[in-house]
Amino acid sequence: MLNRNFTVSFYWRLTMYYFLYDNYDSRNQAILSDNEYDRDFCDNCGAIHVTYKGIFKFKIMGELLDYYMASGTPVISERFLNVLRENGFTGFEVGDTAPRYGTVTMVGGKIKEKYYLFKVTGKCGMIKQLNGDLFPYCRKCHRKIASTGLVTTGVTFAESEYDGSDIFAFLNLSNIPIVSEEIKDVLIKSKLKNLRFVALNEWEYSDRILERSVRRRFEKGSVYPELIEAWLKYGVLTEQELNEQLNKKR
Ligand SMILES: [Zn+2]
Repeated sequence: MLNRNFTVSFYWRLTMYYFLYDNYDSRNQAILSDNEYDRDFCDNCGAIHVTYKGIFKFKIMGELLDYYMASGTPVISERFLNVLRENGFTGFEVGDTAPRYGTVTMVGGKIKEKYYLFKVTGKCGMIKQLNGDLFPYCRKCHRKIASTGLVTTGVTFAESEYDGSDIFAFLNLSNIPIVSEEIKDVLIKSKLKNLRFVALNEWEYSDRILERSVRRRFEKGSVYPELIEAWLKYGVLTEQELNEQLNKKR
């Protein structure tokens, strides 16, 4: 249902937006190779954020296609880059890559075709549910947190936080490019291979957590306020169960 919130539904009637994914399949895919990276660790939520450095290395299995999420990192073919440039699309930067042919376990010869690391620079704020609620996030590092119990369909962004770029992404889901209906049509007409569009308002999100995992996390002490808040909000935990867990620790 889109019309839980009038402002949001009105906005959606004007333009549709899509996440850009690849057609993940086990025979045609790109896989990360060993890369140099910087790591940064959040001592609140425990997230480890990896930033790749230098030339991005990956291997391609199967046919050479125009777009891949190489273990979550988008890469595009030269053909794709040309389409973006010819149309003057904004909201991205590219970096150098060194792709090789490969299988799941082996790295093979160099690939002559050029591929580019695709970094989305366009922004639209934090990821929100259709009712306008933010997805639970860590207040220290701002990352979207996992194991929250949130199950929902459809996401949106605040119009006031969208910078107007043609290609953009959520601050806390920055690896998945978003495009408008208009740009989606251009990309489809360009016959680029391996693009899959998922409408933001149909995106399925299921972050269930088992009761025993909740218990284990309390035992290990790997809980933090934002997570507990989400568990209470999404019915993973009642106030009473929370109090029992907290009393156990004393
Ligand atoms: Zn954090």
